[in-house]
Amino acid sequence: MTSLNEACQARGMSEDAFKVCSNCKKPIPYGGVWWACSVSTCNRGKHALFFCSVDCVDSHAPVLRHRSYWAEERRAPTKAEALAAAEAEARAEREKAERAEEARRRVVTLSASESREVPREILVVASRLKAYVRERSGMNTSDAVMDKLSDHLRALVEVAMRNAAEDGRKTVLDRDVPEI
Ligand SMILES: [Zn+2]
Ligand SMILES: [Zn+2]
Repeated sequence: MTSLNEACQARGMSEDAFKVCSNCKKPIPYGGVWWACSVSTCNRGKHALFFCSVDCVDSHAPVLRHRSYWAEERRAPTKAEALAAAEAEARAEREKAERAEEARRRVVTLSASESREVPREILVVASRLKAYVRERSGMNTSDAVMDKLSDHLRALVEVAMRNAAEDGRKTVLDRDVPEI
């Protein structure tokens, strides 16, 4: 079983015990019985508690001021099972990191193309906009408004392009445009 132990060491897992009891520090063997507290916060992620006996569950309850709780019997994974789970978790983390890196690369690619000098052209149809303003309010519209609105449009589309790139798309969709 040397290779299994070596693999455990490589993953930072104990060779001898699944966990140590959160109360009395006695080792809980692989494949053995352990006890969980029924309170959800005692079973969360890296801070989950493991107990070697119902007595140890009873000991922690007043410390954490549990109003109501009970001990739940659990079976520890065998060493091989625990190792497989740790390896699956490591793989999942690696894949997540790779996806994050891929998304970062796409954004960097976008930033590089952003720095390309694009002429600041007017992006709105002045006659239509002026007609709209006139119909709605009877007001005239200064030509400088077209510049300002075009800047606003560029800023909105900037956000939309980033959203599309983060999603891995080459097409900007309506849902990429931020809500006003
Ligand atoms: Zn214990
Ligand atoms: Zn608890």
